[in-house]
Amino acid sequence: MIKDMKDIVSLCKRRGFIFPASDIYGGINGFWDYGPLGTELKNNIRDLWWKAMVLTPPVGPDGQPVQIVGLDSAIIQNPKCWEASGHIGGFNDPMVDCKETKKRYRADHLVAYVISHYMDDDQPELKLIPVFEQNTPEEEILKKFKKLGLGASTENYKVIPFMDIENYHYTNPDNDHGMLHLEEGKSILRLRKDKLVGPDVKIPDTLTEPKQFNLMFHTFVGANATEDDKAYLRPETCAGIFLNFKNIIDTARVKVPFGIAQIGKAFRNEVTPRNFIFRSREFEQMELEWFCEKEDAPQWFEFWVDQRKKWWESIGMDLSKFHFLDVEKADLAHYSDRTIDFEYQFPFAYPDYDELEGIAHRGNFDLTQHQEFSGQKLEYMDPSDNTKRYLPDVIEPSCGLTRAVLGVLSEAYTVDESRPSGVYLNFHPSVAPKKAAILPLTAKEEHVPIATKLYMDLREEFAIDLDVKQNIGKRYARQDEIGTPYCFTVDNQTLEDQTVTVRDRNTMTQERVNMDQVASYLRENLKPAKVMAKKEG
Ligand code: ATP
Repeated sequence: MIKDMKDIVSLCKRRGFIFPASDIYGGINGFWDYGPLGTELKNNIRDLWWKAMVLTPPVGPDGQPVQIVGLDSAIIQNPKCWEASGHIGGFNDPMVDCKETKKRYRADHLVAYVISHYMDDDQPELKLIPVFEQNTPEEEILKKFKKLGLGASTENYKVIPFMDIENYHYTNPDNDHGMLHLEEGKSILRLRKDKLVGPDVKIPDTLTEPKQFNLMFHTFVGANATEDDKAYLRPETCAGIFLNFKNIIDTARVKVPFGIAQIGKAFRNEVTPRNFIFRSREFEQMELEWFCEKEDAPQWFEFWVDQRKKWWESIGMDLSKFHFLDVEKADLAHYSDRTIDFEYQFPFAYPDYDELEGIAHRGNFDLTQHQEFSGQKLEYMDPSDNTKRYLPDVIEPSCGLTRAVLGVLSEAYTVDESRPSGVYLNFHPSVAPKKAAILPLTAKEEHVPIATKLYMDLREEFAIDLDVKQNIGKRYARQDEIGTPYCFTVDNQTLEDQTVTVRDRNTMTQERVNMDQVASYLRENLKPAKVMAKKEG
């Protein structure tokens, strides 16, 4: 069954996972708040990544665990950092790319020629709309008109700013006998954007949406808000890692190959934030920079691709819904030899895929840039060979944490009309905000104290919910919707034989276990191997 984003967004709000930021003020586009359960979910994914990278890093090709250390660098750094990284590069304006010619235009310098009135049986929506740079000479415009079969004059055309195309439509005033007029505002017919023909091509639909190239939010540091005090919120977490490369090799007793990992907030003033938390303006990233010798980089690249696949699987993601895009040479960043994007079949993209994580071989571009811009030597000296100094190559697995939250929610969302909630979240137990719920069958005196004691005994070891109020059916429904794998219920029989029922979220089957066995039951059933075995059969 195709999952609907709308339903996922609505469950997230209804159950307290994710709310629009500033909800009571009508929200603010591109920003989200994580509610009680969303925070737990996000923290679990974050901690599992940190564990897999820093606390128990994977075993390398030599049979020993690889070496990775953690970092938590500032969100605001010296603005020179962003000059070196290429983030302050003069592109402060919305730009449009031509997919055919690879040319880039300033969106606010483009104009579109749209036929200004039409008989409605002429199907104006099917006509091409030529786009020109402002001040293109008339004879060139006419030449292009001829090539596109649009006639020998521009007389019947209205020239509109490219950035305003969205606002223009055809309208049909009643008194005009089927004549359509191009107007701003109310419409009977939209302009078809796939009919736009870029300045340097003859075919339609090669222009991208306008995109802001300097995506960084800026602020001012200190009391004098002059240009010299301008600073930026980081657009990615990795820069802090490169800035601390020397501090870490000098202090952390690491030897190449090794990694530095960081998780934290990043900010991008995205032109079109969309698809719930997928593309937001404030988000979180989990990034590893893996430093190695140039000749070993291709093997380490494969190593990390493999490790990251295993990690996604370990948190319950179905790899058959992934697409591993080996980015074509022509589309790679100039410093990258190879990049593989892990794309996931998000419901909004279905049946296509969209990026969840990127793994890039970045060469030694970043260290080279920061060495040049800072004037500090950042070279690594091989301790076994004092004459060998170099800037190591970098393999970077870079993953959106908040995007991972959306991936995990999308994967878990399961429609099941046979149960009262109609839907449940099939979370892998490792990410589930609550591993179990303890429910007294009734709010009666006898059940509640036993349930409370069981809860107090378990809560040190497991993230657990004690839910007393409402009828039991409603409480099961709630636990299903928040993805709690097990519910333990204290009932009348508990008073007689000290057993409780345990209800499995996915199968809804119940069995009885002894109360003093609940902890070991959970320990056993939450083990990754057990979860995998259950999933497979
Ligand atoms: P895109 O092309 O989608 O803008 P990107 O290729 O620029 O993204 P990177 O700079 O490689 O993305 O960022 C690494 C990861 O950070 C992405 O794979 C994604 O998971 C996450 N990410 C990037 N931008 C956003 C955003 N606006 N909101 C949420 N996550 C993001």
